[in-house]
Amino acid sequence: MSGTIAIVGAGASGCMAAISAARTNPKAQILLLDGNEEIGRKILATGNGRCNYTNEYQSPDCYHSDDIAFVERAFSDFGKDETITFFRELGVIPYCKNGYYYPMSRQALSIRHCLERELQRLGVTVCLQTRVIGVEAKDAGYVIHCMERDIRADKVILCTGGKAAPDTGSDGSGYSFAKRLGHEVIAPNPALVPLVCRQHPLKAAAGVRVNASVCTTDGTGHTYADIGEVQITKQGISGIPVFQISHVVAKRLADKQPAEVVVDFWPTASASEILSFVKEQKASGRVTALDIFNGIFPHPLIQALFADDFRSLGEDALVERIKDVRLVISQTMGFGAAQTSAGGVSLRQLSDITMESSLHQGLFFAGEVLHVDGICGGYNLQWAWTSGYLAGRSAAQELL
Ligand SMILES: Cc1cc2nc3c(=O)[nH]c(=O)nc-3n(C[C@H](O)[C@H](O)[C@H](O)COP(=O)(O)OP(=O)(O)OC[C@H]3O[C@@H](n4cnc5c(N)ncnc54)[C@H](O)[C@@H]3O)c2cc1C
Repeated sequence: MSGTIAIVGAGASGCMAAISAARTNPKAQILLLDGNEEIGRKILATGNGRCNYTNEYQSPDCYHSDDIAFVERAFSDFGKDETITFFRELGVIPYCKNGYYYPMSRQALSIRHCLERELQRLGVTVCLQTRVIGVEAKDAGYVIHCMERDIRADKVILCTGGKAAPDTGSDGSGYSFAKRLGHEVIAPNPALVPLVCRQHPLKAAAGVRVNASVCTTDGTGHTYADIGEVQITKQGISGIPVFQISHVVAKRLADKQPAEVVVDFWPTASASEILSFVKEQKASGRVTALDIFNGIFPHPLIQALFADDFRSLGEDALVERIKDVRLVISQTMGFGAAQTSAGGVSLRQLSDITMESSLHQGLFFAGEVLHVDGICGGYNLQWAWTSGYLAGRSAAQELL
């Protein structure tokens, strides 16, 4: 053995780090530790159980971080193409729909299974039900304090995830390990998360899914918008477009700033097109909101938008009711309902793309624990694969 690498967390990034380390240095002892009784529990929940593991379209705009140039460099070393090839070599044929990649089986289980098999093939020691409670730098190596025992390692890779979906095992403990080792952690907020409306004006339309655009502004006045299927929920709004702007809303709320989302329920029509449509409908003898918008919006939404005052609305007010619906957001649905965490360990204290700490030689990070979060569409897993691959390779190279 040329040394021991302990990887804390057997999620997407941890499994990838272990495989990458074992392939780079077959003589190293690789320990993959997880508090759960199985590896990759979160992987099973991804993409509605189908695992959207990467995306054809890759751009720095798809990620938020405190060092986007770092993220770009990482992807140029191991990006989307390398990910597809990696899984292809493990027997997973990609199925691509609108740029979103899934396994051909459309089962997240296929991704987890192939990782599990590869870990076995490479002789990685997987220690399940091993909850880590602290990581200490000691005698040119590390001591990993677990509930039951202490483990010594020459290198450590923290792949503990963020705080999103804590029922899958990621409870944010990695942030405290990093902090205690001197690392800066940018306060994490839930991201890709449904939003809660104050005095929810569209509650009557809960359950409705409709094509709409949503838009919000950050503290500097920069506007973030997205379009697609918006879901009205009992508490507020959800759906992919809402997820895409949710990190901005979460940040404003965390900063104790008012947060508002403006919804346009007919984004493909201009104000004048809407008014001439209404005029045309009225000329055909339709006078109530329900009759006029019957073929445009689901009925509960018409009722929620116009209540009982449709006849008294002037032209501007009528257009506003459709294209300028202002929702005051009181909170997000929290980490329990979030798909990822925005914030985390700053990239600025890592040495370029080795993913190694610049404070402690032999300490590496990968995945969601870092201050990198992607938009919906396979980007967060892509970051987990990329950073896991690089961290595993770098840690193992140091032991060659
Ligand atoms: C419902 C849902 C759907 C999603 N869908 C997609 C999708 O389709 N595409 C996409 O790209 N992204 C998706 N994501 C996001 C993506 O799954 C995550 O960003 C990614 O899995 C993060 O990987 P990770 O390895 O960094 O962390 P995690 O997967 O969270 O893994 C961390 C692991 O560390 C372990 N751990 C944590 N702390 C400790 C400790 N103290 N001791 C021992 N073990 C510990 C945990 O048990 C866990 O197994 C989704 C997320 C959710 C919640």
